[in-house]
Amino acid sequence: MAQTLLTRSIILAKFNVGDYDNAYLALSRDYGRLRLFAKSSRKPKAKLSAHLEPGTFVSTWFVPRFNRDNYLIVGAKTIFKPNFHKLSSNQNKTISNTLFLTRKLTQETEIEPNNIQAGFKLLKNCLANYLKPGISANDLILFQTAYLLKLLNYAGFKPDFKKCIHCQKKVSNNSKIYYDIINGGIACCGLANSPIIPLNCLKLANFLLLNPFSRVSKLKVHALLVKKVSAIAKNHLRYCVE
Ligand SMILES: [Zn+2]
Repeated sequence: MAQTLLTRSIILAKFNVGDYDNAYLALSRDYGRLRLFAKSSRKPKAKLSAHLEPGTFVSTWFVPRFNRDNYLIVGAKTIFKPNFHKLSSNQNKTISNTLFLTRKLTQETEIEPNNIQAGFKLLKNCLANYLKPGISANDLILFQTAYLLKLLNYAGFKPDFKKCIHCQKKVSNNSKIYYDIINGGIACCGLANSPIIPLNCLKLANFLLLNPFSRVSKLKVHALLVKKVSAIAKNHLRYCVE
């Protein structure tokens, strides 16, 4: 019989399979992204499913399934489950979006232990910030944008907020800067039919990309600026994955 494996993971998504079973996608601390399968977990007396809601931080015991590309869950124990009913709709929406982004930008083929742990820690820290009591809508966007930029970097799509993608010149206060969606970078020349980005946006974007959440959480930033940086990050995501 196959050896039982144990890891800590964050559930990213849940899918119904057949009448009673569930499949899950999880980001684990020791094995990276995992496809998991839970037999009969939707039967009324099943206890597993309560531990496996998306967004839950869980200890998972699992074994490889013969001739399948996923693992069978043989046990699960919640380490931390956010109280989703008590969170604001904004918090819940931001958590869902973040789990979705993580699904999009992580891969099952990652095998380097340090990278695996870094990805897990990044998501864990991000979620912890979302759960701060009384967090403002603006801070939620700020943390989500910081996470997206860090995740893009993690996935090998590091954006460069300092140099023009066409002429390689360092952008300055005198340049008219925009995000070039065709070429996937900031630009000061070439065909510009995108909205102009102020330099302080790029400074904030760079700060969010390079600094840990503990430093991001100390920022006081105007909502309009946060929205602009969020738009740049989303444009870069669109360029990288669509
Ligand atoms: Zn240029």
